Amino acid sequence: MRAVVFAAVGELTVAERPEPVPGPREVVIETAAVGICGTDTHVLDGEFEGTVFPLVPGHEATGTVVALGPGADQGPGALAVGDHVAVNPSSTCGECDLCLTGRQNLCRAWNGMGVVRADGAAQQRFTAPAANVFKLRPDTDVFEAALIEPLACAIHGWDLLPRRMGDHVLVYGSGTMGLLMAQLAPRAGAASVTIIDVNPDRLVTAAEVGIEHRYTSAGDADRAEWDVVIDCTGSIAAIEDGLPRVMAGGVFQHFGVAPADATARYSPFRVYRDEVSVVGTMAVLNSFGRAVAMFETGAIKAQPMISHTFTLEDYAQALRMFRAGQGRKLQVRPNQDTSQTLLGQRR
Ligand SMILES: [Zn+2]
Ligand SMILES: [Zn+2]
Repeated sequence: MRAVVFAAVGELTVAERPEPVPGPREVVIETAAVGICGTDTHVLDGEFEGTVFPLVPGHEATGTVVALGPGADQGPGALAVGDHVAVNPSSTCGECDLCLTGRQNLCRAWNGMGVVRADGAAQQRFTAPAANVFKLRPDTDVFEAALIEPLACAIHGWDLLPRRMGDHVLVYGSGTMGLLMAQLAPRAGAASVTIIDVNPDRLVTAAEVGIEHRYTSAGDADRAEWDVVIDCTGSIAAIEDGLPRVMAGGVFQHFGVAPADATARYSPFRVYRDEVSVVGTMAVLNSFGRAVAMFETGAIKAQPMISHTFTLEDYAQALRMFRAGQGRKLQVRPNQDTSQTLLGQRR
């Protein structure tokens, strides 16, 4: 069986690996699709906290159950061979102060498949604890469903924002996360959604998923302030542009991952005077099952969001393309023999 392996910082190989064997309450999944995101580049570059090499990457995964360990076919989440599934990559210790106070996403011993010390899904087959495996409907597109993991992050993001009918929402960044946060905004009560991206090509995707107001600069928009401003870029320029656009009493959310040592400037007086809230959001907290439900109810237009698929052998090419900011969501499909362009490059 073939697998992508991050052997050490900056070292990417494709290697032969033994077939996985499921332990108690584990299943083996034949991988359908694995999304590539910024986290994968941070892991390979040695910038992700706690990564243990060698590691098989891949944390945004779907597939088909092909083997069950003892007990995986029993209990509330009982699984069967042939089930199509999406996999929550997070494992938590259940014992630390943060786990015991309902903040498992901030667990002090947090382990993410493909990012910390458990192997991920960029291989032909992989094991996962049954508790992390969510069954999909047979008619759900198992490849597009690899967007469920980032959608679960977006839903946690919205869990931390106000749900007020009639709010105006501004999103920075028309990549996968920005597109998901923007598509969820009307579901959370937004009267309007505006999306900003300095790259006009990315705004084409925003149009295709139905985001009405799209600009390369927020200064061009038809309003000056918004109730909720969400940064999905991690770019300091975007953050410094966006925070002053929060209306009095509004909320600014850091969703994008800024460099760990970066700082941004804002006016503490303004935050005090206008009661602006600044909130973060980190990964998934009890939102994976809801992400499956939202995906299967059609809350997200997935098809325009995925542009290219890659074989395991072409994984390095996928990472190069991601770093160059080309394409839309890039997926690895470890059991397909050819890499494909699903949507033409609009350039
Ligand atoms: Zn990701
Ligand atoms: Zn914990």
